[in-house]
Amino acid sequence: MNYHLTINGQSVPGASTFDVINPADKSVLAAAPKASVEQLNNAVAAAKAAFPAWSALSYEQRREKLMALADAIEAAGGELMQSLTQEQGKPMKGFADMGSGFEFGGTLAWMRATASYDLPPEVIQDNDTARIELHRKPLGVVGSITPWNYPLLITVWHVIPALLTGNTVVVKPSEMTPLTVLRFGEIAKDILPPGVLNVVAGDGEIGAAISSHPDISKIVFTGSTPTGKAIMHSAADNLKRLTLELGGNDAGIVLADADIEAIAPKIFATAFINNGQTCAALKRLYVHKSVHDQLCAALTGIAKAMKTGNGMDESSDFGPLQNEKQFNIVKELAKDAKARGAHFLCGGEVTDDSGYFYPVTLVNNISDGARLVDEEQFGPILPIIKFNDVEDAIARANASNNGLGGSVWSRDIAAAQQVASRLECGSAWVNHHAMIQPDAPFGGVKDSGFGVEFGEAGLKEFTSIQTVHIYPG
Ligand code: NDP
Repeated sequence: MNYHLTINGQSVPGASTFDVINPADKSVLAAAPKASVEQLNNAVAAAKAAFPAWSALSYEQRREKLMALADAIEAAGGELMQSLTQEQGKPMKGFADMGSGFEFGGTLAWMRATASYDLPPEVIQDNDTARIELHRKPLGVVGSITPWNYPLLITVWHVIPALLTGNTVVVKPSEMTPLTVLRFGEIAKDILPPGVLNVVAGDGEIGAAISSHPDISKIVFTGSTPTGKAIMHSAADNLKRLTLELGGNDAGIVLADADIEAIAPKIFATAFINNGQTCAALKRLYVHKSVHDQLCAALTGIAKAMKTGNGMDESSDFGPLQNEKQFNIVKELAKDAKARGAHFLCGGEVTDDSGYFYPVTLVNNISDGARLVDEEQFGPILPIIKFNDVEDAIARANASNNGLGGSVWSRDIAAAQQVASRLECGSAWVNHHAMIQPDAPFGGVKDSGFGVEFGEAGLKEFTSIQTVHIYPG
């Protein structure tokens, strides 16, 4: 299949191409079009030219277009899900049905829910003296820079609220997984007016050119903390607004009274969701000593039944890691844990290197200070840390520079909620983790970034306030 950039409503070839690798067998999946900086400039110019007419439409008119886009994406579901599996690695179906079908279903759900929202003017005062209204205005051209873990889902998280509020967009997918998003752009060009949504694939050079572009008013970015910081530096020149979602190292704290058999499947699912390559996955598990052994046994029982393999094989619960760099990070963290005397309950050895396959791995007899605990693994390996005192567990959970999510697990909801309220993170869950939905704001604190996505609060991030003061004439 041929892939194209989408610039000003046209499918155009790249200035050059780059290879996209299938992580399940390391073969070249496709040659993706690579945009030059000149093509990026054309995309930004097209978005800028499209802005006056698009922003002048009503929410209802833009909603109609976005709902039509959701229908067109739904109609292309078979092709898009297969493309996700081939470039990202996640199984079509996978463990607990959380593979490409899950990402695709989430994509449609988020598109339709987000497109249904409104930001009507608010009336601050309305009396004989004056009427004061607060209006939300679009910002202009938005640059969206997306990662490789959920290529399509994160694209719609960025693009749909930006478009609904009247902005126009230039998207740059990760060079690791550009194909599904390139197809998204090709489908969108037949529905949206030219220039409203542009897709330019390329490497970090294009990302850097977006974040310093004088005609881009806002960047919405999901990816690593170092790249987020680089974007913030280069966004300073024209005071770009930023939403930065920079990943996490989420802690889960299991209290002594937790119902271990009931929570073990939920802990497993939320730690290993998308093979651990999820920003808000449970990445450090702190367990009270009285239930530590029971929980380790329950998790190991679940883990040992899992099959890691090619995502196109229906029997695979988990696929490969998405790329070699991430595969090597996971291997390094496991090596460091082993060297420190950690105990591997299962996994830990690569047995098939035809692709970037790392087995589901559980590690205990480990503590803070080990790289596997202190750093974001972003892969299928979970450290389990025993604690005696809940105050100590809270302090360790908060000792991280990250602050995306955190969870507390207990039969005593009030006690758990009390502990959860002390976690330094943007989302806190009781008896679950990584649960998100289109109407509940989601974002991080500390090095996990700032700004929120989803719901009304997420929409507002793509607007500025204009306060209108009206006095009798
Ligand atoms: P990056 O942050 O490097 O990449 C994310 C996106 O930013 C990609 O589209 C990338 O483009 C782009 N980019 C790279 N350099 C720049 C730049 N200077 N200016 C603007 N955009 C740029 O993440 P990696 O893919 O390298 O992953 C590294 C780590 O990030 C992982 O180990 C994981 O810990 C974390 N991560 C977090 C995610 C999350 O959901 N929060 C998702 C993915 C990774 P290109 O790919 O073309 O270089």
